[in-house]
Amino acid sequence: MRKELSSDAFTLTECATPTRPKKNQVCLMDAERQRLIRSLFDEYIEMYASRDDRLTTRFSDNFSGYTGGGNFLVTSKEEWIRITRQDFMQVPERIGIEMLDLSLQDISADVVASTAFFHIHLPTDDQFLSRETARLVLIFRLEQGDWKIVHSGISIPYHLVQEGEVYPINGLQERNAELAALVEERTRALAEANNKLEALSYMDALTSIANRRSFDRMLAMEWNRAQRASAPLSLIMLDVDHFKHYNDCYGHPAGDACLQAIAQALAQSAQRAGDLVARYGGEEFVVLLPNSNAHDALETAHRIQRSIWSLALPHAYTEPGIVTVSLGLASQHASRMSSQEELLAQADIALYRAKQAGRDCLHAAQPWPDY
Ligand code: GH3
Ligand code: MG
Ligand code: MG
Repeated sequence: MRKELSSDAFTLTECATPTRPKKNQVCLMDAERQRLIRSLFDEYIEMYASRDDRLTTRFSDNFSGYTGGGNFLVTSKEEWIRITRQDFMQVPERIGIEMLDLSLQDISADVVASTAFFHIHLPTDDQFLSRETARLVLIFRLEQGDWKIVHSGISIPYHLVQEGEVYPINGLQERNAELAALVEERTRALAEANNKLEALSYMDALTSIANRRSFDRMLAMEWNRAQRASAPLSLIMLDVDHFKHYNDCYGHPAGDACLQAIAQALAQSAQRAGDLVARYGGEEFVVLLPNSNAHDALETAHRIQRSIWSLALPHAYTEPGIVTVSLGLASQHASRMSSQEELLAQADIALYRAKQAGRDCLHAAQPWPDY
């Protein structure tokens, strides 16, 4: 069926299959198509101007295009999106597109080329782009009933901004380098913060010496090492005498200060490489002495006891009138070792005996080894 329609400029002919337009005659389908492509083009330009990520929703899977100011031909849609996102990051706000001319051209029944010339007005004070003419070519192709963009050729005029810098590509590359440096700096700062956090998680907040977590870890490590190296391992466990009364008498803050002073005294009394002083909990401390035989460990325990005495912190409830501690000592040699739990239990029992014996004294686990 053919129906003749007249218009001012053309004779419009409705036809089932698009045919090549004759002079002064286009198919009605073509006119609709032109309108449709025009609206798709406008939609694209609106998304481009508003830096909208959905810009690529109409791209064909076989898309190819020029980007980055028009210098790079990209044949992967994903790569095109990546580069364009970087472009958008340089000017994330809406830009002004001043359209100068748009022409649509039927290439074939299912391909339309659109060519636009326009000025770009950046939100920043850019004197250059707003005067120069940019060009955008979009090729639309009908794919399974849908018009898709199969090619985009953009050409944004560039010039030498400074010696050696081409607009806008070098700016983009510099920006990328800046971002890479920023990421590196942030990664380093994050690693540093993580290291500090890791160190803090092994430190007792009140006394700034190692905490129970740290001690447990070190005990396991040193136990294994002692076994491998066939070396001795000694452990002192100590507890402040009548500390509840100390708090009651002098107040909790004074109790805190007392624990801090004791921690410092312990740290100074066990200074050999590998010695570990830790707060075991409350007013209990532990001192781990790797490679210390029974004789050396006994000497260290006595030194600790003396160092607490010499703090001479007044304590009205104890017999000597100063803060004292009770100490339990255990020492094992790799050749006769049972388990790290056993070493801990031996020190704990020895400490209990020291308390039973009247406090302010040192007890060693029995039988005391002779190495
Ligand atoms: P003993 O000689 O048998 O060890 O008697 P004690 O009073 O020292 O032992 P007890 O277990 O009865 O009391 C321990 C006290 O230590 C009770 C608790 O309030 C106090 N304490 C535990 N941790 C802290 C702390 O961080 N700061 C202060 N100020 N006191 C603490
Ligand atoms: Mg206690
Ligand atoms: Mg106590």
